Amino acid sequence: MFDLTGKTALVTGANTGLGQGMAIALAKAGADIALIGRSAPTDTLAQIAKTGVKSHSILTDLSTADNVESIVAEAVSELGRADILVNNAGIIKRNEAIDFTPDEWDAVMNVNLRTLFFLSQAFAKHVVAEKQSGKIINIASMLTFQGGIRVPSYTASKSGVGGLTKALANEWAKHGINVNAIAPGYFATNNTAALQADEQRNKEILGRIPAGRWGHPDDMGGAVVFLASAASDYVQGITLPVDGGWLSR
Ligand code: NAP
Repeated sequence: MFDLTGKTALVTGANTGLGQGMAIALAKAGADIALIGRSAPTDTLAQIAKTGVKSHSILTDLSTADNVESIVAEAVSELGRADILVNNAGIIKRNEAIDFTPDEWDAVMNVNLRTLFFLSQAFAKHVVAEKQSGKIINIASMLTFQGGIRVPSYTASKSGVGGLTKALANEWAKHGINVNAIAPGYFATNNTAALQADEQRNKEILGRIPAGRWGHPDDMGGAVVFLASAASDYVQGITLPVDGGWLSR
């Protein structure tokens, strides 16, 4: 029930970090992969090639949602189908809330929430038109549940992802589309480079994670394959923490 052979997954922001880890996990489960992002995913393509599935890179800037329909169309024309969408691309801006600028607000909300919604909509339109089923997996955060510090637009965007996941599940379950989210805990990627480098914060973070270590992109594989596969056909609207126990503390 976890086999993805014959399916095609679209993964945003898969040149590095969690997106790369999830794209490789989906490929190992048998899915063909469309990698969508602004940087060439050279290393990810090479690792996917070893699994024997097909892959295709779509280079595009996701800070606007202007070309979401053409992204889905290109994935379908190159790989034949679109069954799974992983909305992973995301950014963070750190600044005191009192000093936060409109640009810092808009940049984060545009990639993390606005494009996530309109790309999901374009994908859902395709699934409905083809009378097939679909899986949408949104990447949320611990700040879907908590407030965070010095990251107001990130918290707003990721809290929005949690709500939107439920809203879309409510509307699209009838079309055979499962919409769920994964909330990663603290993972060692570019996104958390500043936290890892801050000795004090690094120590505080590690001290609160029951697993006693930062997550690795490979740690996302099981959850994403589960939510992309038939194993989760009756799972709707959840945000699944993959956090080494952070939220349990
Ligand atoms: P990352 O290594 O910085 O990767 C982010 C990805 O998003 C990169 O591929 C990046 O492309 C892409 N991206 C950003 N802005 C884009 C744009 N305008 N157009 C196209 N692609 C864009 O960070 P990560 O940690 O893997 O983060 C992946 C997701 O997990 C994000 O949604 C993040 O919020 C979430 N998350 C991460 C953690 C963590 O601990 N790391 C925890 C909770 C949630 P470039 O390489 O070109 O910048």
